[in-house]
Amino acid sequence: MTRGGDARGGRLRTDAAGRCPGPATVATAYERLVCELRQQADLAAALRLLEWDQETYLPAGALSGRARQIGTLAALLHQRRTAPWFLALVDELAAAAPALDPGRAVDVRETKWRLDRCRRVDGALVRERAMLHAEARAVWRVARQTDDFTALAPYLSRVIDAGRRVAAAVDGARAPYDVLLEAYEPGMSTAALSALFDDLREGLLPLMDRLRAWCTAGRAERAALRGEFPVRRQRRFNRLVAARLGFAFDRGRLDEAAHPFTTAIGGDVRITTRYDRGDLRYGLYSTLHEVGHGLYEQGLDPATWGLPRGQACSLGMHESQARLWENHVGRSAAFWRVFLPVAQRMFPSLAGTPLEAVVRAVNDAGPSLIRTEADEISYNLHVLMRFELEQALVAGTLRVPDLPAAWRAASAEYLGVVPRTDRDGVLQDVHWASGALAYFPTYALGNVYAAQLMVAAEAALGPLEQMLGDGDSRVLLEWLRARVHRAGRSLRAPALIATVTGAPPSAAHLLRRAEEKVALLESA
Ligand code: ZN
Repeated sequence: MTRGGDARGGRLRTDAAGRCPGPATVATAYERLVCELRQQADLAAALRLLEWDQETYLPAGALSGRARQIGTLAALLHQRRTAPWFLALVDELAAAAPALDPGRAVDVRETKWRLDRCRRVDGALVRERAMLHAEARAVWRVARQTDDFTALAPYLSRVIDAGRRVAAAVDGARAPYDVLLEAYEPGMSTAALSALFDDLREGLLPLMDRLRAWCTAGRAERAALRGEFPVRRQRRFNRLVAARLGFAFDRGRLDEAAHPFTTAIGGDVRITTRYDRGDLRYGLYSTLHEVGHGLYEQGLDPATWGLPRGQACSLGMHESQARLWENHVGRSAAFWRVFLPVAQRMFPSLAGTPLEAVVRAVNDAGPSLIRTEADEISYNLHVLMRFELEQALVAGTLRVPDLPAAWRAASAEYLGVVPRTDRDGVLQDVHWASGALAYFPTYALGNVYAAQLMVAAEAALGPLEQMLGDGDSRVLLEWLRARVHRAGRSLRAPALIATVTGAPPSAAHLLRRAEEKVALLESA
């Protein structure tokens, strides 16, 4: 049986107006917090269901009605999150935190931390930013199509200025980038991130030089998974792989979307993918990535649903779970030893394709202009250059009009390729136009965390080869579930990594893996 929204424990009866009963003691105050947080989580889940539907099945003519419904629910949720009685309750509980057990204290600490960030920002600035980001996103779409950075530039300047004002409101004593970063990766400072990324840069740049040399020397065409793969059969294959890796279809779905994503509607986890009938990799690796996100969501502790302890730790940690299943599991020989025979039964065009050719095809690498199409190694360099540029933008040492030139210089330095158009350069991603400043680092952090977690998992469980023996990766999933998923937000990401792996976040594991991959390609 699955756990439904109303069947979860700890729910108090609400009064006629839907409010949770008032507090008398610290324990009942905490119960009141739980009740309210779960109602807010229900509203957020309803909002996500509407958004999921919009990205998958919504008829085009229903878009304006849907935008209104989403707006209404979002406003309701905002009212609930900023209601004076709720803010006072959280403050009261925070003052009484020593009287709470450690788990409850986590819920109070994390709720107060997020609320304090929110309430320091003036409502007018929140509204101004929401409208600005919506407008800038629309301008970005056209600017990208027409390759016209100058159209976006004034909006980008305003987005960065608004980001700085938010950072100053949240904590004027700290560098703005630090404050913005924390929203996505609590517990990670710019200084710690810079040290980690310096190590990555130092290790990856020479590997990139080797990759370029290898490509110039005439790399072989990686055609092993190209051919004719009917979409109906790909749907079956992707579903089978997702289920074998542990994705629970009685608490989730796999659908299609132009830009794949995962969303959790309470305990119901929806993942999406997309297919290319000429290349099996395109859909499969999207699916594996989203399966990783989905397994994390399905692994959160149902007993603490709706509370910080029952939520994903950080964006970087979420990404680590996606990368672990996509890259460490999905690109391994062990994975293909299990799934190549299955694929060969479904797709006659794969008959006779040797395992080694498939493993090389899914580990192909080389310089590329577009981040979302980049291989596992150069992907991190795409992130590092954005990290450098956005820090300079937020600090004011790089002016927006100078950004395209700075982008080309960074691209030459990091990737060894220079985009001929802004469309293939600075205009390729929507993040900055959407106001997501300091978001990009979480992608590379995910790769760093994934590599470190995988080394720890193999030390505890034996090589992946052994874990995946007959395609049943439950032992790995259970290991992650017990240590990472069930922890929720009990610890901040750097501390959780240190607890699970015995060492603070380090680039060493990712670099070792990258070195091995380059050597594998060179040996072909
Ligand atoms: Zn992801």
